[in-house]
Amino acid sequence: MTRKHAWEGIPPHPSNPSPAAPPLAWPGGRRAALFLSVDVDAETAWTDDDPTRTDHLVSLSFGGYEGRVGTAKMLELFRQLGVKATFFIPGWVVDAYPAMAEAVLKDGHEIGHHGYHHLRPDPGSAFIEDELARGFETLKRRLGVRPLGYRAPGGEFCEALRVALARDGILYSSSFRDDVRPYRHLLASGAPGTIELPVSANFDDWMLGLSARFSPRSVMAPRDVLAMWNDELDEVVEWAAMLTTVLHPQVSGRPMRLRLLREFLTRALDKGDVWVATGAEIAGHFLATEVGKP
Ligand SMILES: [Zn+2]
Repeated sequence: MTRKHAWEGIPPHPSNPSPAAPPLAWPGGRRAALFLSVDVDAETAWTDDDPTRTDHLVSLSFGGYEGRVGTAKMLELFRQLGVKATFFIPGWVVDAYPAMAEAVLKDGHEIGHHGYHHLRPDPGSAFIEDELARGFETLKRRLGVRPLGYRAPGGEFCEALRVALARDGILYSSSFRDDVRPYRHLLASGAPGTIELPVSANFDDWMLGLSARFSPRSVMAPRDVLAMWNDELDEVVEWAAMLTTVLHPQVSGRPMRLRLLREFLTRALDKGDVWVATGAEIAGHFLATEVGKP
């Protein structure tokens, strides 16, 4: 007798209804979009899957670098280059480092929702609603912000979260890896969900440039990363597509990594055909040109 796996019968990409969507025309005649986004996880990156790490002070200090040094250095770079980014910040980080979060806002960047304690929204998690509500509450109380964008902490998602984001008026998510263009989620019920600005996993600096006791891996040399990033961007331009950075100030705010980011962004801007934009700008453009709006 053949045994059925629970996954049998479920379509392979149930969230993305537009596998053959045509390329978008980008504003101002640009040929591609670069969604410049930053995840300011600070200490929550080290405590999210194991609360006992609150006693591991050196591991936590990676996150402390972000609150005190890394984010400020990235803000300085973005000012020098004249670019705006989206900073996804967990509520706990805003409460712990309010001056840092205010500096992000003061420089005109977008603030996105990234949970409260950066708890991964796995299917069945008891924390999904609490993380959403506390994240909204903190961004409102500290910064007066009602976020338009959401990025899933730890890069996981489930149907209950997709439904909740649409209910809560989130315009776009930036968490999935299933496209190189924006698209609108199709919920399991058949109702439309949020817009998705897909993430480019090759632009997650955590995977390329950080090694630590609780996150051990080989670190890639900046020259190799720069070559990879430039190749990806050049091909994305050929495809009239988009790419999304996932930068963490505890990685890209370190000296050699900031130099790498400066070189990459300077070249991207010099190309003249890449729209370096925030998530709200790209989602707004998608919304304005969307065929068959919900
Ligand atoms: Zn994060």
